[in-house]
Amino acid sequence: MINLILFGPPGSGKGTQAVKLAEKYDLIHISTGDLFRYEMGNDTPLGLKAKEFISKGELVPDSITVGMLSNKLDKHPDSVGFILDGFPRTIAQCEALDEIFSEKEMAISKLIALDVAEDELVKRLVERGKTSGRADDSDSNIIKNRIKVYHAETSPVYNYYDEMKLSHTVDGIGSIEDIFGRLCATIDS
Ligand code: UDP
Ligand code: MG
Repeated sequence: MINLILFGPPGSGKGTQAVKLAEKYDLIHISTGDLFRYEMGNDTPLGLKAKEFISKGELVPDSITVGMLSNKLDKHPDSVGFILDGFPRTIAQCEALDEIFSEKEMAISKLIALDVAEDELVKRLVERGKTSGRADDSDSNIIKNRIKVYHAETSPVYNYYDEMKLSHTVDGIGSIEDIFGRLCATIDS
């Protein structure tokens, strides 16, 4: 089994690369952000709750996100592996994931971080906001808050897995194919 965490700040290219990696390695791609957007689009109770936080660029509380992730894993018992995109986002989520994985006798293979400078991130998110229809991409204050939350709450996730020697960093600047090649080389190494 290969279980990857694709890591990086908002706008670093996780979603784009996760789709390509899932195809190449036959993994189930789980984007917690996409799952929330699906729930919000259908105005489900979970979606309405998530919207309170996402619309401000804050994180949805850990218990909600972890429960949703766990349900999604359970839907694919026969998968050869998963690629987690945008999760875990806090140390508490790392600890919850450890527990879920140990119950299922699964393990994280690698965390790969996409390294992109901050001015480039803001540029990409503003550009994406023109077509994505995502309210959280269309307001520079929300974008700034998401990056702030990333530094405060999410960046320690890298160190959490680094202590287990599982964290790797890949240069996230370049063409989609070049970055994909770097990711594949890291996975295969
Ligand atoms: N979000 C969250 N927990 C998650 C995933 C997403 O709270 O596990 C919320 C958070 O408010 C975030 C937004 O959903 O800013 C969009 O997440 P997504 O991962 O799609 O955005 P990205 O960081 O990839 O641009
Ligand atoms: Mg994303």
